[in-house]
Amino acid sequence: RPQGTALVEARGITKLFGSFKANDDINLSIRPGEIHALLGENGAGKSTLVKILYGSLQPSEGEILWKGQKVGIPSPSAARRLGIGMVFQHFSLFDALTVTENIALALPDRKSRSALAREIEKVSAEFGLPLNPNSVIVDLSVGERQRVEIVRCLLQNPELLIMDEPTSVLTPQEADDLFLTLDKLTARGCAVLYISHRLEEVKQICHHATILRHGKVVAECDPQKESAAKLASLMVGAEIHAL
Ligand code: ADP
Ligand code: MG
Repeated sequence: RPQGTALVEARGITKLFGSFKANDDINLSIRPGEIHALLGENGAGKSTLVKILYGSLQPSEGEILWKGQKVGIPSPSAARRLGIGMVFQHFSLFDALTVTENIALALPDRKSRSALAREIEKVSAEFGLPLNPNSVIVDLSVGERQRVEIVRCLLQNPELLIMDEPTSVLTPQEADDLFLTLDKLTARGCAVLYISHRLEEVKQICHHATILRHGKVVAECDPQKESAAKLASLMVGAEIHAL
């Protein structure tokens, strides 16, 4: 489903924590409509890279191009204004508040609760994310809480949605539901940057994979054309692979 030229490009991204290089000269390019997997073992630098793309960390070196233009992403709100959304691994929802109240707190412009509740119903129906806007978060399953996070992002019409290990908290059924939602999103040209350890699911849903090891890109491939064993060996292997 990926189309056309790059939506976002990272060029030569390096991130130092003290003298430790968490990201080392990373190049990455994501096209509209693409589900782009970011693979790597624990500590490979995946979360660091997506935090840079979402404006919660600044790179030590390198640049980011958005639709061909060099951009700074000084903060998450700047990322959201560009059209970048992120679904977090650990949710930041208020347990005692409803779905609508939580989403209202996260959105920049204030609108009436009833208008927002209608929008939540519309987006959740459109993308297969069943949610009652009046549910209190404490009563929701982990999968439902993730839907709240996704709906929160979708209400801001992202062109790139970043997901860091989204299925690690889901049941197999919830994961399959999420894949249907991602399919609907990419059909509209939204790109997804998808971090996962689960190679079979990456092979099932992702169009492209960038593999990190020790902060460096060691391979890029179409994961649907590689065996899970090959992908795993690229993640842990010793030599540089060019596919
Ligand atoms: P991944 O998401 O692939 O598991 P991370 O990007 O979280 O990897 O981390 C990459 C490396 O950078 C790890 O060794 C981690 O300990 C280190 N690191 C991440 N964030 C910080 C930080 N804020 N300060 C120091 N080191 C960090
Ligand atoms: Mg991580």
